[in-house]
Amino acid sequence: MFIDTHTHLFLKQFDEDIDAVIQRSLDRGVEAFFLPNIDASTIDALKALVNKYPKQCFPMMGLHPCSVKADYEEELKLLKAELDTGDYCAVGEIGLDFYWDKSFTAQQKQALAIQIEWAKEKELPIVLHTRDSFEETYDLVKSLNDDRLTGVFHCFGESPEAAQKVHDLGGFYVGIGGVVTFKNAGVAEKVVDIPLEMIVLETDSPYLAPTPNRGKRNESSYIPDIAAKIAQVKQIKVEEVMKQTTKNAQKLYKTTV
Ligand SMILES: [Zn+2]
Repeated sequence: MFIDTHTHLFLKQFDEDIDAVIQRSLDRGVEAFFLPNIDASTIDALKALVNKYPKQCFPMMGLHPCSVKADYEEELKLLKAELDTGDYCAVGEIGLDFYWDKSFTAQQKQALAIQIEWAKEKELPIVLHTRDSFEETYDLVKSLNDDRLTGVFHCFGESPEAAQKVHDLGGFYVGIGGVVTFKNAGVAEKVVDIPLEMIVLETDSPYLAPTPNRGKRNESSYIPDIAAKIAQVKQIKVEEVMKQTTKNAQKLYKTTV
């Protein structure tokens, strides 16, 4: 069994054919979907999907860094009330994004720090977005880290040394997705030297579809293509990638699914 540790299947890109998407995933052995929230506007769709597939879908609550604007404190209040219902498996998607828009950098850092505190208080893992901001995110996590904090640096594209630093935080993993299959992205070459014990698989659907579907809508059924690429560069069997990454994901999310 595979686990997609990061997939936004509740977004409108899946409105037309979500049942077929879930079925295709199950047919390929992808049996659990961990769903990071984006912001207050996506909560209803997130909950609707989880109600429809309660055995396969596991929701997270958090404010995505690209949705951090001047009113982020109001937004966080809404999300915290939702998190307090106790229905969530992680605090995500949170982090920093210095690629799209740098005008709310200070607010992004504030929002991240606040949400890390939520995770510590509730002993939930954090799911981190670090686009063009790995060092800044890592430093902030490290400064707030304690033995309650665990999580994943999603869409990881840094060096094996950086993966080791993440691992050394204790209870943290790196999320590897479709980019590992992209020629010239450089991620495959790094993954060779990142131990499987540190890796969880993710699609980040609908974004970043792996080869041979690059450029199209991504979906969770493509997880085995990501696993196959990791197996190929590490010269090991896909089953080995599947078993270890599933074990890692179960440990991270404290689940047996
Ligand atoms: Zn995401």
